[in-house]
Amino acid sequence: MAKEKHRRIDGPNSVLEHRGLIDLPTPWRFSWKWGSKVINCAPEGIPRCKGICCHGPHFWPARANKNDPTKCLYLSETGCIFDIKDRPITCLLFPFVLNSNNTLCLYGRATCWTCKGNYKIGNATITTTLYNHLYYLFGGMIYGRMVEAICTQRDIYFTPPQWVLESLKREKYLQEKNLIPSRRSMYGEDLR
Ligand code: SF4
Ligand code: SF4
Repeated sequence: MAKEKHRRIDGPNSVLEHRGLIDLPTPWRFSWKWGSKVINCAPEGIPRCKGICCHGPHFWPARANKNDPTKCLYLSETGCIFDIKDRPITCLLFPFVLNSNNTLCLYGRATCWTCKGNYKIGNATITTTLYNHLYYLFGGMIYGRMVEAICTQRDIYFTPPQWVLESLKREKYLQEKNLIPSRRSMYGEDLR
């Protein structure tokens, strides 16, 4: 396991130092079954699902907002104040989550709770609806393989870019400590 060099992250309310974070194992597996669920996670769908994923106390980073754990510190009346470059990877992936088997699947209660209002609305899969995020995180080649996996009904294995793994590793640490993340662009120049 590679040792993390001593590095500092500046958060809105805290300055923390961390070291020895655990590298995320690769490759990841993409589950075509989960990826083919029809969930319309698009801006027009937010009134239907109420954007539960940006609210606490169940979800991080929302639950790290000590002043109001019912909603994320970065949630405004018009949605997340961060653009794609600043948003946590955890948020960009959701409702996809990485399970303990290193499989990118959907959050277990996505279709029956969080995303229920947008489940089976239209006919686009969650993989299609999240095109912008998945393409940004993994690149066109891997995204294309995800789409193909759904068409052929076969899971695929892939290795995410290093900057995604590094960012997610930091987020897992913050999540465990229930700390608010900073803008992702503040993590470091090596992290997009
Ligand atoms: S950072 Fe943005 S996308 Fe993530 S929970 Fe907060 S408001 Fe939602
Ligand atoms: S991930 Fe689910 S709960 Fe969050 S905005 Fe999309 S549909 Fe709504």
